Amino acid sequence: MKKTCIVTGGSSGIGLSIVELFIRKNYQVFNLDLQPSNTGTFIKCDVTDFRQVKNIVSSIVKESNIDVLVSNAGIHFSGNIENTSESDFDKVFNINVKGAYAAIRAVLPNMKANNNGAIILMASDQALIAKQNSFAYNMSKAALASMAKTTALDYASFNIRANAVCPGTIETPLYHQAINSYCQRSGADKSQVHAEEAALQPLGRLGQPEEVAELVYFLASDKAKFITGSLQVIDGGYTTQ
Ligand code: NAD
Repeated sequence: MKKTCIVTGGSSGIGLSIVELFIRKNYQVFNLDLQPSNTGTFIKCDVTDFRQVKNIVSSIVKESNIDVLVSNAGIHFSGNIENTSESDFDKVFNINVKGAYAAIRAVLPNMKANNNGAIILMASDQALIAKQNSFAYNMSKAALASMAKTTALDYASFNIRANAVCPGTIETPLYHQAINSYCQRSGADKSQVHAEEAALQPLGRLGQPEEVAELVYFLASDKAKFITGSLQVIDGGYTTQ
């Protein structure tokens, strides 16, 4: 029987690469996202809606047990504390943090009943270090690192592992949106900003979504069965500088 994996935000970027890889590894994959996708089993879902996430996961559980949850849906927001309105703050926290809380809450009853489960939270290098003009996003990713650690401790006795993945700059639609909006504001040249961004990474390039997916797959697998509560950095050396 196929193992089952739920991915939030699996229609684009890192999430899409995760969905593709788990399908290639013979998983049944449910993609809970706002925007439709033809890859995996797409279920329209807004992760900020706690009840909706719970109901969708309950309907999946009627068919299959959940082996893996990848809580990946997230948005980026640029701004220091003064440039972050109350509604911007709420939006970032509702999607990035409360969405992960909703997804974990929804899968735990099934994982506990089966004494089995791997939860992977998509944090960021910003869970570990600060970046300028990233007040709310930075804090939301630090919160996810904390969520991975507390969940790991609270559910270790149920053989449920929880880890956070902390990517550096990965070339996805979210990355392109972030540099587009920076270039619009500042008048900077996009290809130059892109080259500068690559040069900031010790390995001299940006990461690719497929590389993050491989790490997520490893953490979900039995090869990682002694790894829980960890923050796994995948950033081309950026945070070690
Ligand atoms: P992306 O914008 O390409 O994909 C994000 C996906 O999440 C989209 O499919 C979007 O529709 C979905 N989504 C957004 N809001 C949602 C909601 N309320 N409910 C359900 N789905 C929703 O972004 P990405 O770059 O692939 O980022 C994925 C994750 O990786 C995010 O959590 C992001 O913070 C994190 N991350 C990205 C980078 C990077 O450089 N790209 C670096 C570190 C961490």
